[in-house]
Amino acid sequence: VLSLVIPTRLQGVAHRALHRLFHTRSRLFVALHVALQAAVYGEYTWEVCVYCWELQFPLLLLLLPYLLLLGNLGCLLLCSRADPGIITKSNHVALAEVYAYDGVLFQKGTLCPTCGTEKPARSKHCSFCNVCVHRFDHHCVWVNNCIGASNARWFLLYLLSLPAAGAA
Ligand SMILES: [Zn+2]
Ligand SMILES: [Zn+2]
Repeated sequence: VLSLVIPTRLQGVAHRALHRLFHTRSRLFVALHVALQAAVYGEYTWEVCVYCWELQFPLLLLLLPYLLLLGNLGCLLLCSRADPGIITKSNHVALAEVYAYDGVLFQKGTLCPTCGTEKPARSKHCSFCNVCVHRFDHHCVWVNNCIGASNARWFLLYLLSLPAAGAA
């Protein structure tokens, strides 16, 4: 219905912007994530920390949120920089041995129609990164990387540390 009202040119611009934001790799959400944390922690430092410091709260208690924030940012960095388990011509034979083919969703010898690598069981092609990833879970825009077999542990720690850093 809206396409009848909105000019075609504007629709094209909006479509390209949405595609760029949500269907290609972009550091925009990582930057937004860090900016939001900086804003929250800036507010905490300005409003709460200084006040609690004057009330002579124990130093460790005052520093705890910053330590949790550092842990969270460390997990974010590790998760976003780590190889999620990209399938290459040199590792696909070894990765094909890890999980059994079910013969339904995953058949032995199937090639990825997009990148042409042989697909091990439980792998999937990521359209953001244009690679096949071993034990693919999803592509996370907040860490700007796929979540797969090799970085899932960092993603889990990132998820666990996020509410801890927020709650502190
Ligand atoms: Zn592929
Ligand atoms: Zn991806």
